[in-house]
Amino acid sequence: MRIAIASFTHESNTFAADPTTLDQFHILRGDAVVDHYRPTFHEVAGYIKGADEYDFELHPLIGADATPGGPLPRATYETLVGELLDNLRTALPKIDGLLLALHGEMFAEDFPQADGETVRRVREVVGPDFPLFVTHDYHGNVPEQLVQDATALIIYKTCPHIDQPERGLQAAELLVRTIRGEVKPVCAIAKPPVLFNIAFHNTSRGPMYPLMQAAIELEQQPGILATSIAAGYQYADVPAMGPCIVVVADGDADLARRECDRLAAMMWDSREQLIPHIPDAATAVQMAMNATETPVALFELGDNIGGGSAGDATIILEQLLAQGADGWAVAIYDPESVLDCFQAGIGATVSLQVGGKVDKIHGPTLSITGRVRTLSDGKFEEPERRHGGRRYHDQGLTAVVEVNRTAPGKGGLLLLDSNRTPPMSIHQLTSAGIVPQHQRILVAKGAVAPRAAYEPVSKRIIEVDTAGATSISIPPEQYHLARKTLYEWQQ
Ligand SMILES: [Zn+2]
Repeated sequence: MRIAIASFTHESNTFAADPTTLDQFHILRGDAVVDHYRPTFHEVAGYIKGADEYDFELHPLIGADATPGGPLPRATYETLVGELLDNLRTALPKIDGLLLALHGEMFAEDFPQADGETVRRVREVVGPDFPLFVTHDYHGNVPEQLVQDATALIIYKTCPHIDQPERGLQAAELLVRTIRGEVKPVCAIAKPPVLFNIAFHNTSRGPMYPLMQAAIELEQQPGILATSIAAGYQYADVPAMGPCIVVVADGDADLARRECDRLAAMMWDSREQLIPHIPDAATAVQMAMNATETPVALFELGDNIGGGSAGDATIILEQLLAQGADGWAVAIYDPESVLDCFQAGIGATVSLQVGGKVDKIHGPTLSITGRVRTLSDGKFEEPERRHGGRRYHDQGLTAVVEVNRTAPGKGGLLLLDSNRTPPMSIHQLTSAGIVPQHQRILVAKGAVAPRAAYEPVSKRIIEVDTAGATSISIPPEQYHLARKTLYEWQQ
């Protein structure tokens, strides 16, 4: 048995200023796909493990991924999907099935639901009966048509996403059983009209926790092959914006429909719990400064880099400085200031214009004077299982500046990097010489995903409602393609 594998992933934020172009994609071809993903905790690692466990040969088509950001220009999408389809056509006579990793929220110019378009085109190439298994991130906005075009869809069950290898392996197993004729997957999808704010995406806490537990229980029932819940992604203005339930049954379409509708009703019943009450930056900084157990991690929701925002928001930093906080560490994307620090050298005093440069919605550019403490190449490795499953990271040239360090423990540490780097690994800090446990206040630009990295080193995590491309309260008037019937928007 020979199975093709491919990964073409991007989480596109339609409120982000800059498009995500071809040069921003990390592209792998041939055996490099297998070599790259094998030591990771990505679902493609699960596909690869499936080859060993279920005894099939791998035929890699392409691996293409970019940091979340603005939509793809049409040409970027066509180039990458074109290569995927060309390789698929060539491979088709020799392969028995396809495992396809798509994020679920790619937006390309002319194709707001680009992953749906990709699955449609793949189905066109392979024909109606070919086994085509798709895996998605939990932040997918899934259109109903995608579930009809794929043989089955399987979505991560955790946020932070730490079960990607298991989902990849699950897809591989079901694909093999489908090819052998042991099972006949039929899918149902439901999309309850709620927004499911990212503030509630944590799968270990309510209101998502009981829903996901119900999905996990259902998956153990006879006749059910897989059950998924996507929370959706509110930073993409697309027709399918919002959560979904996907149930895959074995040959019984009525069972799939019935159970899918049951879980959808459960989600709808939780709607009153989906209205967020979260402190602003001034309040959150005060709470962190008053904490007796430290460090406290502040999650800057409006600049959720993993959700495609700028990475250079200054809203919490501004409050830390204004309120005279001590022992803080903040990372900000600012290649210009990094160069200033490299030119000045270690130990030099620098006057910098920091952050707020990518656009106008992530806080002001701040004038900051400090002493250059460390300079590094910004490369680091994450050996543990963390959100996104990535092992090798590169935040580009990196400087750490001591700010207001009048005495030991006073002031803070400002990490400046040259690549927009979601805070998925604590080694973003440790590799630059910052010991998180020695700080009083850590600021992470994310919502739920950084928990896997920050919970082990923090005594408390406080989510902070800030402005930005990933603000948790973008007004409905700013959406044009999304359904207007979402419950939160009726309140
Ligand atoms: Zn995600």
